[in-house]
Amino acid sequence: MLIIHKFGGTSVGSAERLAAAADIVLAAEHQPVVVVSAMSKVTNQLIAGARAAAEGRDTIYREIKAALLARHLAVVDALLTRSRARLDVGGFVEDRLHELEQLYRSIAVLGEVTVRGLDAVAAFGEQLSAHILAATLRERGARAEALSATELIVTDDAFGAAHPLPGPTRERLQARVKPLVERGAIPVITGYIAATEAGVTTTLGRSGSDFTAALVGAGLDADEVWIWSDVDGILTADPSLVPEARTLPELSYSEAADLAYYGAEVLHPKTVGPVVAAGIPLRLRNSFNPQHPGTLVVKSPRPDRERLPAIISTTGLTLLAVGSRDDAWHLALTARALHCLSAASVDVPMFSQSFSEHTLNLVLREQDQAHALKTLQGEFAGLSADNFALGVKEKVATVSVVGVPGWNDKGIVSHTFAALGQHGTRVIAVAQAATEHNVSFCIPEEQVGDTVRFLHQELGLGVAS
Ligand code: ASP
Ligand code: MG
Repeated sequence: MLIIHKFGGTSVGSAERLAAAADIVLAAEHQPVVVVSAMSKVTNQLIAGARAAAEGRDTIYREIKAALLARHLAVVDALLTRSRARLDVGGFVEDRLHELEQLYRSIAVLGEVTVRGLDAVAAFGEQLSAHILAATLRERGARAEALSATELIVTDDAFGAAHPLPGPTRERLQARVKPLVERGAIPVITGYIAATEAGVTTTLGRSGSDFTAALVGAGLDADEVWIWSDVDGILTADPSLVPEARTLPELSYSEAADLAYYGAEVLHPKTVGPVVAAGIPLRLRNSFNPQHPGTLVVKSPRPDRERLPAIISTTGLTLLAVGSRDDAWHLALTARALHCLSAASVDVPMFSQSFSEHTLNLVLREQDQAHALKTLQGEFAGLSADNFALGVKEKVATVSVVGVPGWNDKGIVSHTFAALGQHGTRVIAVAQAATEHNVSFCIPEEQVGDTVRFLHQELGLGVAS
């Protein structure tokens, strides 16, 4: 049995978590291949450093580099006791972060950062975590080897979210990873990052490590792909909001993709592609609770499995309004706003157009807010100031209720809105109600906990049926 184990950022977020990840890999009763994310928050910091450099904020990017160096070296110190390994890996960390600082400096000199430059910067996190995890496994007696996916996953040059080329990728995985596996060694592959045929570093898009795991699984004809995160698979609600949330035991690929589309963080929609094509089962498991079986995602689930709807909530979002004070705001301007944000790599998880208020409401991640404001200001610099309005309205959350046909005769949508009305939740925007099974809406962030708990109860998920 060949199984791909992918560890997300929180599963390798500290020395303790890296040690737990190593335990999981070493306890495996099959041949493991590891794919690893950067330590939690590292990719965000790397990107923030690049933006700071482009804006000439030198102290910020230097501080980011220093913090990354301190955090990774502390982990190396805690995990690697053999002086040789400690020196080697510590040296590797120092060299990479020195390189990062040089990259930041050239961005500062240019005064701008391209998407290609952002990929080069964002790639550092996984290089560090993969080397540290491989060394930790070696320290415990395994033959583990860190491999950079820039040598394995071949993509086009759509920087920021490059598309893998399946043929060359499979060839390289077969040529470079297969022999290691056959010798019983444990490859530890960097998630998220890749390279063009010419060798220029790309990334597969944010949260791309799951995609890497799926590509590696397909390219090596793995038996299963296990995605280790910090939750017990796909749940009926976020367990930090609803402690009694239950795990969906078994789903089909398309049901899982649906949930991911609505923002379930456990799985990225693109991820499913390579495993679906190859018919490889996926397991979503919790590295903080490795005894739990998690959620199994397969081509044909057992007909008698338990079917439950899921409530997916996302916080850390901000609502931005852009428009005009009179009725001059029109659809072409909306298109321009969305286009300039997309070109600036700002993701817009939800938006709504209010024709009566002449505004476009944009739901963005808080970390993108400053960059988005700047981008929109630049785009609409030509509009007269007393006509153009741009502002941050409030902190918001999005909530989606995704049902499965056959769960309940009563439509999820009407059921959900009845519950919201009863609870007094202020619904700011409704974004999806494409079928009677799904609905998404945007609410004030401070109402998210109460609302999700209430909905969970109202939809009958609070007690085991
Ligand atoms: N480190 C990357 C990110 O934060 C990829 C991943 O974690 O999957 O987006
Ligand atoms: Mg992830």
